Amino acid sequence: MVKRALLSVSNKTGIAEFARGLESLGVKIISTGGTAKILRDAGIEVTDVSEVTGCPEMMGGRVKTLHPRIHGGLLCLRESEEQMEEAAKEEISLIDMVAVNLYPFEVTVSRKDVEFEEAIENIDIGGPTLLRSAAKNYRSVTVLSDPSDYGHVLKELRSSGIISDSTRATLAVKAFRHTADYDAAIDTYLSKTLLGEEVLRLKFTDGMKLRYGENWHQKAYFYKDPKIEGPSLAKAAQLHGKELSYNNYVDADNALQTVKELGNAFPAVAIVKHNNPCGLATGSTLLQALQAAWDGDPISAYGSIICTNEIFDLEAATFLNGKFVEIILAPDFKPDALEYLKNKSENLRLLKLPELREIFGTEYTYKYIIGGMLKQSRDIGIYEKWESVTDAPYPEDKRSISEFCLKACKATKSNAVILAHEYESGFFMVLAMGAGQPNRVDSIRKLAATKAIENLRTIYKREHLDVSFEDYCQKVMSECVMASDAFFPFDDSIIYAAENNIRYIVSPGGSIRDGEVIATANRLGVAMIFTGMRHFLH
Ligand code: 5GP
Repeated sequence: MVKRALLSVSNKTGIAEFARGLESLGVKIISTGGTAKILRDAGIEVTDVSEVTGCPEMMGGRVKTLHPRIHGGLLCLRESEEQMEEAAKEEISLIDMVAVNLYPFEVTVSRKDVEFEEAIENIDIGGPTLLRSAAKNYRSVTVLSDPSDYGHVLKELRSSGIISDSTRATLAVKAFRHTADYDAAIDTYLSKTLLGEEVLRLKFTDGMKLRYGENWHQKAYFYKDPKIEGPSLAKAAQLHGKELSYNNYVDADNALQTVKELGNAFPAVAIVKHNNPCGLATGSTLLQALQAAWDGDPISAYGSIICTNEIFDLEAATFLNGKFVEIILAPDFKPDALEYLKNKSENLRLLKLPELREIFGTEYTYKYIIGGMLKQSRDIGIYEKWESVTDAPYPEDKRSISEFCLKACKATKSNAVILAHEYESGFFMVLAMGAGQPNRVDSIRKLAATKAIENLRTIYKREHLDVSFEDYCQKVMSECVMASDAFFPFDDSIIYAAENNIRYIVSPGGSIRDGEVIATANRLGVAMIFTGMRHFLH
């Protein structure tokens, strides 16, 4: 039986209709100032909380319902004779239902111009306390924290005269979840404003179900952070194509982070496969950057994810004719390009992210390992120093390409070695990469150097150059830059690099055998920079 209900809501949507429904079922209504006024205006009979407590609302509304006559009426265990006697002795009347929603703290603090004092005043104290008291005693009390529940609660009351055990239980869990989220929002705001600490909180109840996980037999969900600032896949609008899979999210995020490394000064394109940018380039146009990125690994580019900082145009779209790609992520698409790409394939996922050129809104990255979460600040920057360590001085005009090379290296799984080529004055491409090897030598010898020659052969054939392939290859390799994500533990990597005509190397340095590595570079005429900044990516 529901005899008395306490209604105290900040969001007044539907409250008058709900109260009228309760009244028609003989339920007595108690209410706080603003809510009571709305109900009275709607012709509903209401008892003020202050009449129940014998105390006025006080402290500018900070204290309204925080009183034993209210919380005793909610928390009293009906099945305890002792507590029921206590209630009678203290003149506490039982309350069987509570409908409360809270001051809009999150909405308030999401406003750019919010004052700290205003934020503090929007921390609801009495409301969560009402919800918690009612939810704790859910076996006797019905708790509504969401206006969308008013309808079915009234329906149940009308049809059976009671609220079922299962409805009360469900509503109690919902109320605790609501107060937990509410307190989490307060913690996030105060941690930032008072302590300068960033707190990441995802509502794990709001996970978006994905088609499957990394493999078909795995279940997967995407928990979006609704408050993230700056570019994020959580905000990307899908204009066309199949639903994104788990792997699509992982790879598209890598593509986004990689492109962002290159800034917005020129069109840039990242082509990602298996969480590595197998192609990366800048260009004077999007088409040029796309072609150069594709040349970095035409085999791997099949089924890849492409991200660019440019609005995707028809020339770039046409380049993809006959090429299979999974996703294109761009700040926007020109209408004719969109039309072309939509016709290209039903499945091609087109993601528009207008914020793509803005800076990232998070300082941290997170990774779950069994039993806990690892948190680290993002890998920002490319070098701490620029120290030429060899007899052959490192030419200043190699700095831009070296920076590009380091940025590519940063986005590539360790052990990463990247070869970068200035294919046109001021524009760079990844010529080849060695990624994810458990040792650095294989990344150079078996992967990067071998792949570079293969890629150059493809470019050579296409461009119909009138030099021999050997001369062309030797020239490109001797002008390219090699970057390593960590120091060289031995000098063997330098030997393999020099065998492939590589003359310019950038690495963090810091090995106990740096001396040996530098001596070998000197002997082989290689110029080398130590940056002092490692870029492992696991
Ligand atoms: P009303 O508009 O009815 O005056 O106030 C409704 C709001 O007051 C609800 O959002 C409810 O959560 C909140 N509330 C209820 N009791 C208390 C209390 O004792 N202190 C504070 N600060 N807020 C309360």
